Amino acid sequence: MSSLQPVRGTHDLIGEERRRFNHVVETARRIVSLYGFDEWSTPIFEDTRVFSRSLGDTSDVVSKEMYTFEDRGGESLTLRPEGTAAICRALVTNGLTQSLPQKVFYAGPMFRYERPQKGRYRQFHQIGAELLGAAEPLADAEIIAMGRDVLGALGIGDEVVLELNTLGDTASRDAWRTALITYFSDRRDDLSADSQTRLERNPLRILDSKAQQDRALVADAPTIDQFLTPEAQEFWDGLRRTLDVMGVPFRHNPRIVRGLDYYGHTAFEFVTERLGAQGTVLAGGRYDGLVAEMGGPATPAIGWAGGIERLSMLLAESPADPRPVAVIPMGADAQAAGLTVLQAIRAAGIRAETSYRGNMKRRMERANRMNATHAIVVGSDEIARGVVQVKDLDSGQQAEVAMDGVADFLRAGSAPKA
Ligand code: ATP
Ligand code: MG
Repeated sequence: MSSLQPVRGTHDLIGEERRRFNHVVETARRIVSLYGFDEWSTPIFEDTRVFSRSLGDTSDVVSKEMYTFEDRGGESLTLRPEGTAAICRALVTNGLTQSLPQKVFYAGPMFRYERPQKGRYRQFHQIGAELLGAAEPLADAEIIAMGRDVLGALGIGDEVVLELNTLGDTASRDAWRTALITYFSDRRDDLSADSQTRLERNPLRILDSKAQQDRALVADAPTIDQFLTPEAQEFWDGLRRTLDVMGVPFRHNPRIVRGLDYYGHTAFEFVTERLGAQGTVLAGGRYDGLVAEMGGPATPAIGWAGGIERLSMLLAESPADPRPVAVIPMGADAQAAGLTVLQAIRAAGIRAETSYRGNMKRRMERANRMNATHAIVVGSDEIARGVVQVKDLDSGQQAEVAMDGVADFLRAGSAPKA
């Protein structure tokens, strides 16, 4: 039997990596809660139609990236490739389209069959936010500002740029699409094979192509600006004005699209130079048509999703774990008293550990290895007198402390020094 390996494109999160990951999610939770967002969790797999209907069969995700399988009952299920469709399904099936707006945050694994590379996996993780039931550009500005605040709180605000575009309303987009088809049809033979397919099915997607040979053609392609209806123009102006008021800097990038039909008006990406080709850390847009695709009433909505792995890679350093206290019982007789002290320290909210075996020297070495702040030595002599020895491992100072006063002593010691 060949040796077992993790599945290609999957990875374990251990130690520093898991700490960074947690920091991203916890920071996002804290910031979105300031904006009044509530966290939802939806299942990791859904009826395949949740994604195939919503993402449309021309999207890369549906045409080649989905993990779809039949379960034992013959149902077609799909491991969720993204969160938005699932949140919209949940909005409809929980009857919440009558209680709008809903402000939703989520975090969890997503699955896409892609070519793995740095910052691109087959099981990856996203944080995401959806604001359901608000049609005003103020909602777009607010959710964008929230994304920026998450990045700021992670300490990477200066390393990402907000790129913003409008996809207009349906009439604007139809006129633009026609112009794009004319433009790219004249240059059809120079397009990548993928983009030739996109030309027939969804020409906007060509603008998002990562193929080098498409890039030059895309650079000169018509932009939507000249096709905007007065209403779409007004929305676009309103969004930019509101972002200015909120102090959110952005760069207009007319190449940014969201390839799916239900996206309109706002499209944006927070990008960095530091991750090579995988430079988009957080991306979103307005999708007023999606809830209706799920069988709900027409519901305006806007949201974003960010890749937790990519965000983790940008963090300068993960917040350090709190240092523990090591409890060291001397010999079998001190075991029970040692445990009592250990649990009392933990009950006081201080991280504490004990070794499972070894002599005093070994245990002391281990305390140093785990970077303990203190070693609490519990010996039979001391037990008889109701005390323990507390050794400060940084200063080397030792103190005799009443057994039931250890937690208080440690808390006082860990208070910030004047
Ligand atoms: P890309 O253009 O990089 O393929 P996308 O447009 O497919 O991204 P979205 O569906 O908008 O990505 O997902 C939002 C974010 O999720 C991305 O900006 C990225 O940070 C992250 N992401 C997407 N796919 C992956 C993946 N396979 N591995 C890791 N992170 C990913
Ligand atoms: Mg992709």
